[in-house]
This record gives sequence, structure tokens and C-alpha cells, in this order.
Amino acid sequence: MDRGTKPAVLVTGGAGYIGAHTAKALHELGYLPVVYDSLSSGFREAVRWGVFVHGDIRDHEALGEAIDAHNVKAVIHFAGLIEVGRSVVKPDLFWDVNVAGTTSLLSTMRDKGVERLVFSSSAAVYGQGGRGPLETIREDAEKAPASPYGDTKLACEWMIEAQCRAYGLSAVALRYFNAAGADPSGLIGEAHEPETHLIPLAMAAALGDGKPLTVFGDDFDTPDGTCLRDYIHVNDLAEAHVAALKVELSAGQYEAVNVGTGKGASVIEVVEAVGRAVGRPVPHSVGARRAGDPPSLVADPSRARSVLGWTATRSSLDQIVTDALRWERNPRYGAGVRSGRLQSTLTVGG
Ligand code: UDP
Repeated sequence: MDRGTKPAVLVTGGAGYIGAHTAKALHELGYLPVVYDSLSSGFREAVRWGVFVHGDIRDHEALGEAIDAHNVKAVIHFAGLIEVGRSVVKPDLFWDVNVAGTTSLLSTMRDKGVERLVFSSSAAVYGQGGRGPLETIREDAEKAPASPYGDTKLACEWMIEAQCRAYGLSAVALRYFNAAGADPSGLIGEAHEPETHLIPLAMAAALGDGKPLTVFGDDFDTPDGTCLRDYIHVNDLAEAHVAALKVELSAGQYEAVNVGTGKGASVIEVVEAVGRAVGRPVPHSVGARRAGDPPSLVADPSRARSVLGWTATRSSLDQIVTDALRWERNPRYGAGVRSGRLQSTLTVGG
């Protein structure tokens, strides 16, 4: 298909982890991803599909130019700050980038007549909720973010919903649970700086590239005492974005949808799955709980099925860690990024 005839989708934050996988999915389905990213935490090397525009989401003019230049018809909005701990010490920065950034994007979309948005939200909007320890979470559960990061995601959702009602935008907010794994190509994967997520840290520990893993608490009210999370393969997540882009919505319609599997895995189950994939146990010890970690965060994914016609198909723990390992073993990307060997060729910020 000729580039000019492909429907163009602006992917803000498309140089980041989930954004890059979604850009690939869009490309494979015949769209032109227009990746718009400031590279403050994304990687230029992760932009392999579509076109790249360097810019900040708070820059109304640059956003407008990118939309005009590529005849953008829809936006998938990933760009934003994501580190929960940092949001506690720099809440103003998070409100500026995440909330003011989304305000800027929405007003640009309105100026340019772009009427469809898919927004990166998070299970962080639920916080600890008021749920029983092992209950799955429905979209109508109490919203009680436990960090400024979660506050900004919820504030954006409210703002988007109100603008749908006021201006006829149609939007889907996807509330992610634990994104994990990597594209099976091994070309793109998870590379945060600094890395705090369980699977990459467990993998680095098993491969001897990192410190032994600390399991944050084994005295939770869960079957094995460690926290339960709903790990979702990043390519399943990418597919959910495409489904949200394509689903028929009326003007003014807003939907918020959980993206998870409905099944929780404990930290110990993850550690064992990583050990199986690597062929070596993960060196680990049990430490104190991490502040703010709820015992269980597992989605009820039924609305994703009914609203988007989407379900996870590749999110078994074994599949997730096998794919993550392929990326991690790619010396040019995974472990290379983590060990700092690629600082000269990759832009690492944040
Ligand atoms: N975790 C852990 N040790 C680590 C990192 C994470 O035990 O070094 C646990 C964490 O307490 C949580 C789960 O692994 O229960 C997933 O944490 P992660 O940071 O990957 O994602 P989160 O659920 O915080 O978004």
C-alpha cells in the first residue's frame, strides 16, 4: 500500500514501550503510525514503523503541524510520565506533562477536526479501592488513586469524557494492568531507565546482568503471600489499542475499559516462570513491602470483550517471559540498554 493512501494515526509517546509495539501493530494492519515523541524517556531506535516527529505534547503548534503534514485522522495518546515514585516528589511536573499535555493535545485535535482518541490510562486510577483482597476490578469500582501519577490519569479521563460530551469527540480510555513481555522479533521491548519492573529485573538477575531480586514482601493476604498482578503481553495490549481505534462509537461517546486477562500471577509465580525460561533460577531474597503496593490488582476484562471485541490471546506467563527473554538477550537492545553499554547510541532520559 502506498504511504499516501494509508490512514495516518498520531501515536504520541510512540518511542516508548507500549507505544512502539502499538506502532508496529498499526503498521502491520495498514495504518501509517506518525510517532510524535520528545525522547525524554523513549528511544529513537524503537521507532521502526511509520514516520517520526520529534516534539513535546505541550507544544500545540508542533502537534498541529504533525497532524496537518500527515493528514492525521485519529490519535493514540501514550505520551506522559509514568514513574509512580517520582510523581510523589514532583507532582507539579506530572500535572504539567500529563494533564496540561493532554489539554494541549485535545485542543489541537479540536482545531484540526480530529475526532477519535485512544488514551493510555492505568489501573492506578483504582488505587487500593475498597475491594476484597482477591476480587477482580470492574470499571465502575471506586476510583481512589494512591499517587499523583494515578491522579493525573484520572484527571485526564475526566477531561476527555467532558470534552467528548461538549465537542463530539469519541474516545476510549484503556486502563492497563501490568504490561509485560516483548515483540517476538526481539527488536523492541521493555527498557526503562531506571528499571523498576519485576520481569526485567528478575530476568537480569537470572542472566547475571543485574543484582539479585528482592521480593517486596511475602506476608500479603494472597495464596503464597506475595502480590498478585494481572500481567498482559504488550502485543495483546497493542492489539487492544487498534481495536479501540476501530470500534464504532457515536459522536460524543466515551468508554473506559480495563485491559487485562482476569487472572492474577504472584511474584513467586513470575520468578519461577523467569527461571524456567532462562534455564537458571532467579537469585532472590524476600525483603520489606514496597510502599503503596496493593496485595492484588487483577482486571475484570469483560467490558473489553463486550465493547471492543478484544481478549488477550498471548498472555500466559510462559509466553510473556519467553518473549521478554528474546529481547533481553539481544545484546544491542535489552541487556545492552540496562547495563549502560548503549548510552552513546540510545537517548535515555527521564
Ligand atoms: N516487585 C518485587 N520486586 C521488584 C520489583 C517488583 O517484588 O524488584 C513486585 C511488586 O511489589 C509488585 C509486582 O512485583 O507486587 C509487580 O511490580 P512492578 O513494579 O513490575 O509493577 P506494578 O504492579 O508496580 O505496576
